[in-house]
Amino acid sequence: MSEITIPKEFDTITADAVVIGGGIVGSATAFWLSKAGMKTILVEKRDALSTLTTAASVECFRTQFTEKSMADLALASVEMFENFNDVVGLPGIDIHMTQRGYLFVTDDEAQLPDLKKAVDQYHAIGIPGAEFIGTDDLHKRFAFLAPQALGATFNIRDGWLSTHEATYGFAKGAGDAAFFMKTEVTDIQTDSQGVSAVKTDKGTISTRLVINCAGPFAGVIGKMAGLDMPLRTVRRQKAYIKTDHPDLPAAAPFTVDLVNHGYWRPEAGGLLCAWVDPDEPDSPPADELTTDWDFAAESIHRVSRLNPFLEKVADNLKAEDVNVSAGQYVYTPDDKPVIGPSGEIEGFYLNCGYWCGVMMSPGAGKRVADIATGKMDNADNPLRYSRFREGDFEKGDTFLK
Ligand SMILES: Cc1cc2nc3c(=O)[nH]c(=O)nc-3n(C[C@H](O)[C@H](O)[C@H](O)COP(=O)(O)OP(=O)(O)OC[C@H]3O[C@@H](n4cnc5c(N)ncnc54)[C@H](O)[C@@H]3O)c2cc1C
Repeated sequence: MSEITIPKEFDTITADAVVIGGGIVGSATAFWLSKAGMKTILVEKRDALSTLTTAASVECFRTQFTEKSMADLALASVEMFENFNDVVGLPGIDIHMTQRGYLFVTDDEAQLPDLKKAVDQYHAIGIPGAEFIGTDDLHKRFAFLAPQALGATFNIRDGWLSTHEATYGFAKGAGDAAFFMKTEVTDIQTDSQGVSAVKTDKGTISTRLVINCAGPFAGVIGKMAGLDMPLRTVRRQKAYIKTDHPDLPAAAPFTVDLVNHGYWRPEAGGLLCAWVDPDEPDSPPADELTTDWDFAAESIHRVSRLNPFLEKVADNLKAEDVNVSAGQYVYTPDDKPVIGPSGEIEGFYLNCGYWCGVMMSPGAGKRVADIATGKMDNADNPLRYSRFREGDFEKGDTFLK
């Protein structure tokens, strides 16, 4: 049985693998390494798992990616979430899977060919269940949408879950792995063979394999090992709105306005809404982030355009019914994560660079473990870090990232 603990100070201990970061990505990575038979230690500087970016997310997953490299990972991950108890080998865990779909909707006629093209692409790369929905059908199936909505892409298999339960599920299922809380990595040591140890504020862990799952701090951890990664961190906010308004369509899917980047979904006791601001500047990796006083109002304004019920909900809102929180997306030059060996430092592996780390975490954790244990050749991994050096990458046209 794995152990989640705050360790006392130690001198030097050894591990086959050290995972840095206890968000959902690190936890899934530790799970798969442990399942592959490696004595694994995960170190997390905060006092609990799933408390930084993972806790800030809107907890959604989707299969709708136009790039095959992302779609393959997303689909594998959804399958693992769907079978979570069998995957982690624990019957009693409920990750609260809600599969009501992602609805990418537009009222801009000029966007309709792009939506149809996206659905053709989903089918071409093997995503089952994705559909284009034209105007008549759209309003029959999603009566809450404004009359001007013209079309959408949809996949009922997409949805949301509890990231807290999933992160702890991976941790609890991780064999004899140890999860060290309140343990901060301060340095990574190397010798002629590559990585040799991880220094923490509690003591030194001697190891030949380190996986950097430090979320927004992945660049900082990379530098400790001598790796300068092309990562950008950008604040993203979300608003929770507490409401029992009768007009709230409580069975709605995750709904995205493709014209103004506003999105929303039902949540226990109300709803979540937000928008992705393309002009939000980069910000340094942070443990604490401020939120904008007008973020909730701006999000409501944007989402209401195609979801007019929200205007009525907003009419009755009190300040204490609204809570805004923030975390950071991490972007790479092609907006896709980096998974696998750094290449430049033997034994220093990466599983980071995410704006979508919740939905990719099960598949990405397995992939990094498969590569580290020789089950998968990194050359067959389209998300390998060396793609940037090789020039083998391009930005895709996936919606909302
Ligand atoms: C508003 C918002 C909405 C989002 N919605 C979604 C969504 O719907 N679906 C989705 O897939 N993604 C979503 N995301 C993105 C998603 O939250 C992240 O991609 C994901 O949580 C990344 O997980 P992680 O484990 O890599 O990072 P984190 O959860 O940030 O975990 C990294 C951990 O590393 C630890 N760490 C850092 N430095 C050190 C150190 N020196 N020593 C020890 N520990 C260290 C940190 O304390 C942290 O706990 C959203 C993000 C935001 C902000």
